[in-house]
Amino acid sequence: MRAAIEAARAGLNVALVTKIYPVRSHSVAAQGGINAAIKETDDWENHAFDTIKGSDYLGDQVAIETMCREAPEDIHELERMGAIFSRDSDGNIAQRPFGGAGYPRTCYLADRTGHTLVHLLYEQTIKHGIVIYDEWHVVSLVNKEGSARGVIALELKTGKLHRLHSKATIVATGGYGRVFSSTTNALSSTGDGMGLALEAGVELMDMEFVQFHPTTLKRTGILMTEGCRGEGGYLVNSEGERFMKKYAPNAMELASRDVVSRAEQTEINEGRGVDGCVFLDITHLGKERIKERLSQIRDLSIQFAGVDPFDKPIPIRPGAHYSMGGIMTDPSGVTSMTGLFAAGEAACVSVHGANRLGGNSLLEAIVFGRRTGAEVARFCVDRDFSEFPKEALRDAGHMVGVLINRTEGENPQTIREEMGETMVECCGIFREKGLLEKGITKLEELRERFASIALTDRSDYYNTELLAVLELGNMLDISTSILTGALAREESRGAHTRLEFPKRDDEKWMKHTLITKTGKDFKIGHKEVSFTKYEPTERKY
Ligand SMILES: Cc1cc2nc3c(=O)[nH]c(=O)nc-3n(C[C@H](O)[C@H](O)[C@H](O)COP(=O)(O)OP(=O)(O)OC[C@H]3O[C@@H](n4cnc5c(N)ncnc54)[C@H](O)[C@@H]3O)c2cc1C
Repeated sequence: MRAAIEAARAGLNVALVTKIYPVRSHSVAAQGGINAAIKETDDWENHAFDTIKGSDYLGDQVAIETMCREAPEDIHELERMGAIFSRDSDGNIAQRPFGGAGYPRTCYLADRTGHTLVHLLYEQTIKHGIVIYDEWHVVSLVNKEGSARGVIALELKTGKLHRLHSKATIVATGGYGRVFSSTTNALSSTGDGMGLALEAGVELMDMEFVQFHPTTLKRTGILMTEGCRGEGGYLVNSEGERFMKKYAPNAMELASRDVVSRAEQTEINEGRGVDGCVFLDITHLGKERIKERLSQIRDLSIQFAGVDPFDKPIPIRPGAHYSMGGIMTDPSGVTSMTGLFAAGEAACVSVHGANRLGGNSLLEAIVFGRRTGAEVARFCVDRDFSEFPKEALRDAGHMVGVLINRTEGENPQTIREEMGETMVECCGIFREKGLLEKGITKLEELRERFASIALTDRSDYYNTELLAVLELGNMLDISTSILTGALAREESRGAHTRLEFPKRDDEKWMKHTLITKTGKDFKIGHKEVSFTKYEPTERKY
């Protein structure tokens, strides 16, 4: 939406296509906040340093500097659009400490930051006259002779396929958390854009880096924001010990997410957990503070775990949360295909490298959304529409027709469940060769079985089973990309921990992983990391 607004401001005719409703996009679930060095006592270069260190030196420094330098102005712009950020006692925008940050830099709206920002941007899309196609599911990125020509989308209400012919296309389809059976992500976070880009021959970058958030609720995996720890919450094991003192004696609970998640999993694996969980204790913050700053967290904990954090610690465990990798772009959203752009979680700019800092992803979506919208406006000036290949609609129709008409075959839901469990088992926090190979083999089998699935619903109207199958196709490719990248990367960096290679290896692996797909084959390539002035050192918190 931020990209669309910027392109519309520049005078372009913009359409926004979304498979759900814009205000239901996963961004609406963001709780904790958005980072920017807005105080005089802070500095964007400190923000850049924290982000680069957090990325375990894999983030591109030029892109990170761009994001951190431009962040304060974007926050003020959001405020002018109407974002009512929480305030400090002087009436200025309040900021809370977040993991891996050397300064309290996270602006927030209680624990509903994403909710407010998404509604705000939605209002702005209406104000700018942007046409919105709600519940239209993009099934292919149309391209010819190496340039993007628009998309084919399926209208959920009628089952009709439509061609949307454009001069430029921006993919902003969010993350892929749902490839794991347990995740903090919305049902819609199936990584479609990454899957479609891969299919169109565009490179994905750094897919092996999956963020596991340290505090997700027992059983459901619902997120308990890092803001809980930012406000002063503790992590304790079954012995009541604040175990982070063993793993990050200075930053404690506010070490970066990869460090905290590994610590928790180690405690659980070594028998100091309860039912596969450790505890997040916020009782000492007091009822007033919890009510004011973390009211949603309290509601979620009561409703989904039967625990009132006023007087009991919340059972939590690490869970799949965020895609550091995505469609390779430059800091203006430009991909390797002419006319195709990407922004937000679907893109890999890369500002998060091997591990993202909390509060940097809403920021990425805003800063690079704006930049990409502006770049698209420049791109479209003086450019005519290129021809829309006729066969694109026919091919999509054929693909959907085959799915609808096949009467016998495997149940797609079984494949989806097996995929989710395989990813949890074989590609979790701690990874090793044997399990990764097992995962890759299993995914090959699942992709083969996927080729002969049959639907039970053959109707045109609101065929959600058909959509689930289209999503599954993307998810299978994404899972294979993650596993392939993870097997190739023989080191431990950020969120990627290989048991056989416990150290970071800058000599061999200070480089990005690229994944491309031709036919059924996934191929690995590499790209250099961009540096400015921040030298890689050992990462300690
Ligand atoms: C529970 C939770 C809490 C978080 N909290 C924070 C936080 O406090 N701070 C922070 O910085 N980050 C946070 N994050 C991360 C951050 O919210 C996301 O990375 C970011 O909001 C993603 O925004 P996006 O616009 O890229 O994608 P999304 O908000 O996921 O939007 C994707 C859009 O693409 C559409 N789409 C997808 N596929 C298709 C298709 N095939 N056809 C048509 N449309 C399609 C969807 O309908 C949707 O509208 C959180 C994430 C989660 C899951």
